[in-house]
Amino acid sequence: MQLTLIKKTDLTPTVKSYTFKPELPFIFEPGQFVMLKQVGAEQKCARAFSIVSEKDSDDIVFIMKHNPVGHVSGFLATAELGAIIETGAPVGRFVLNPADTDRVFVATGTGLAPIVSFFNSKNIATAPHTTIFGVRHEEDIFWADRLPKNSLITLSQPSESWEGLKGRVTAHTEALISEHPNAAWYMCGNPEMVSEVRAQLIAAGVEKTAIHFEIY
Ligand SMILES: Cc1cc2nc3c(=O)[nH]c(=O)nc-3n(C[C@H](O)[C@H](O)[C@H](O)COP(=O)(O)OP(=O)(O)OC[C@H]3O[C@@H](n4cnc5c(N)ncnc54)[C@H](O)[C@@H]3O)c2cc1C
Repeated sequence: MQLTLIKKTDLTPTVKSYTFKPELPFIFEPGQFVMLKQVGAEQKCARAFSIVSEKDSDDIVFIMKHNPVGHVSGFLATAELGAIIETGAPVGRFVLNPADTDRVFVATGTGLAPIVSFFNSKNIATAPHTTIFGVRHEEDIFWADRLPKNSLITLSQPSESWEGLKGRVTAHTEALISEHPNAAWYMCGNPEMVSEVRAQLIAAGVEKTAIHFEIY
């Protein structure tokens, strides 16, 4: 299917959001991703991007870490509005389990994409939830206004003036486990974070069936 670029926004110095108009209605489950590629490019040049659904919108939004030589992110960074990109069908099993009784969402960087999508899911209302979002510097924070009020933002390399949480998300996992002993965990971001938090959860006795993750 083809998507037409209708909006580009710089969210941080390294993260951009892209809004597209799909040629046909785009049906997906919040948390899923698609393979995007330039029109006519070989399949090996397709790259995975999580869908960020905008509430009450027919448009499709993605957030991308900018790579100037990226097959997809590099192309879109210099593409004009009206440019076309190809998408495969939505896929992935990183979706909310409606049977959860409590949820903790853990995201680093653009791993926030499917988590924000979850906030628009019909299943989000089935359980209370808490989010922890980790980035390096103040300037890397984006979409803080889209996070629920009880969300935590932690900076691994904050400036001296930062008065919020400090450290990587792993520094706060144990406190969250204590506060949410029966939660289902949904993690998305870089491989090291997912691997480390997963190990912390398993060591603390969290059931593997309650640990969901998407690795970027
Ligand atoms: C299920 C899933 C969902 C994902 N969702 C998202 C998402 O929503 N947002 C997001 O930002 N990412 C997401 N990712 C990660 C994303 O798919 C990869 O980072 C992908 O490589 C990005 O494509 P690109 O077009 O930016 O660059 P690519 O085309 O992959 O990179 C082009 C070339 O640049 C080289 N390169 C890559 N990084 C660097 C670097 N830092 N410096 C120098 N050269 C480099 C590579 O070797 C490659 O040859 C997701 C991954 C998965 C598995």
